[in-house]
Amino acid sequence: MLDPTFVDKLVERLRPEAVLVSPHHVLVYECDGSTAFRQTPDAAVLPATTEDVAAAIRTCVEHDVPFVGRGAGTGLSGGATPAEGGVVISLAGMNQLLELDLDNRLARCQTGIVNLQISKKVAEHGLYFAPDPSSQSACTLGGNIAENSGGPHCFKYGATTAHVVGLTVVLPTGEVVELGGPQDGVGYDLVGLFVGSEGTFGIATEALVRLMPKPESVKTLLAAFRSMVAACEAVSDIVATGIVPAALEMLDRPTIEVVEAGVVAAGYPTDAEAVLLIELDGAHHGMERMEREIRNACEARGAVSFTVARNEEEQARLWLGRKAAFGAMGRLSTDLYVQDGVVPRSRLPEVLEKVGEIAARYRIKVANVFHAGDGNLHPCIPYDGRDEEERHRVLEAGREILELCVAVGGSISGEHGIGREKSSYMDLLFSEHDLNLMRALREVWNPAGLCNPNKIFPTSHGCGEAMSLPSVAAVPGAWI
Ligand SMILES: Cc1cc2nc3c(=O)[nH]c(=O)nc-3n(C[C@H](O)[C@H](O)[C@H](O)COP(=O)(O)OP(=O)(O)OC[C@H]3O[C@@H](n4cnc5c(N)ncnc54)[C@H](O)[C@@H]3O)c2cc1C
Repeated sequence: MLDPTFVDKLVERLRPEAVLVSPHHVLVYECDGSTAFRQTPDAAVLPATTEDVAAAIRTCVEHDVPFVGRGAGTGLSGGATPAEGGVVISLAGMNQLLELDLDNRLARCQTGIVNLQISKKVAEHGLYFAPDPSSQSACTLGGNIAENSGGPHCFKYGATTAHVVGLTVVLPTGEVVELGGPQDGVGYDLVGLFVGSEGTFGIATEALVRLMPKPESVKTLLAAFRSMVAACEAVSDIVATGIVPAALEMLDRPTIEVVEAGVVAAGYPTDAEAVLLIELDGAHHGMERMEREIRNACEARGAVSFTVARNEEEQARLWLGRKAAFGAMGRLSTDLYVQDGVVPRSRLPEVLEKVGEIAARYRIKVANVFHAGDGNLHPCIPYDGRDEEERHRVLEAGREILELCVAVGGSISGEHGIGREKSSYMDLLFSEHDLNLMRALREVWNPAGLCNPNKIFPTSHGCGEAMSLPSVAAVPGAWI
């Protein structure tokens, strides 16, 4: 329950319509895309400017109230969930492209801008913003920055951090600072440090981002395989040719079925065990040769079909199937747990097989759709969140999948972050000494600990949902 003088002060410093406190208004901010983790905030504010954000944070600091920044809430690790209540600061209304510097291919944007809007707004100049999370039609630049988001084309172009040049940040004390900038290159890389800090170092209100020239030529290819192992081996073979595709994405049979039956007829063969979506981009010259080499690599691994999109419409259809895959799974169950782990590319076949074994033991379904080129797995587990026992089983299976990723030399997150969901798994990767170093760094930025508390690190009282779950007897059996 918030102190009424706190709310009065927020209203006075922002505007009455920018402060939401009624339970049915704030309910919408109780979780992100990871619906297994919920906490209703006490209030939400809707700033229009950097000064509004600073005023909201200063008010929180004066009253010792926790706060968390929020973009579109598409995060998949509970990052924007207000774990300790308090105030959600929603950046969604701060969505303008403020300046376009064509000579230097830079854009200054408010961070509530939707990722895809940046590319749309600069398309007439032959430019685009390269980081392309599959949620790009909804997620915001601020969320991308906080999570250092990846996306299909980040295999070639790098994750968000490679595309952010400068930031305007409201620190957790309420002070406004400028980090980086076009000429920056001296001293600590504070922009690099902020990107990926999962909303715990302050709230970014503006960002200067790099734009890329659209490639002269793009080819979108789809190879279908009778086995997942063959498809994974083809991925390693393609990389071994020395060609760097713009994207290398994999969908397994359960995903193909749900995509084809649901959102869109993408044209994926429903009798395939796996399809590999490959994109090449660059100069016209050399495209035919690269296509031929990739076709050879796929056929050498037994590809049963190899399709080349003939025009932009066909390219878009093949991509829509991939980008709408998580959404299409909505037809399977009320909730979806999207796991995010990384493994060395060469270990993909055995890891996917073991993921199937884990699923069978926990009596859950798993559909795999993932960034194969990066070894970044996304086992998707549809479940009914109203069934506590099932929810526990799903989280336990998720934990085993991550333990498996770490055991083969991988990591517990490729791009969705640690957030609330994985804080209790950090010690699978890091020693207490490492964690204390990271905590010390957080304290420099966020001394009072009010900015997005109870995230990333295991805490004594919030030691992660999954860790506190009763252990579930894993029962051998067929998929449901
Ligand atoms: C269908 C679907 C597909 C997805 N595909 C991908 C993918 O391909 N690659 C990928 O990396 N992720 C993917 N995601 C996850 C998610 O979309 C990304 O993490 C995205 O960057 C989150 O953006 P958002 O605006 O929704 O952030 P939110 O969910 O609102 O917030 C995420 C985190 O960012 C912080 N934050 C938000 N705005 C700011 C700000 N301005 N300043 C500081 N901190 C801030 C929040 O506090 C929170 O910790 C997908 C999600 C879905 C639902």
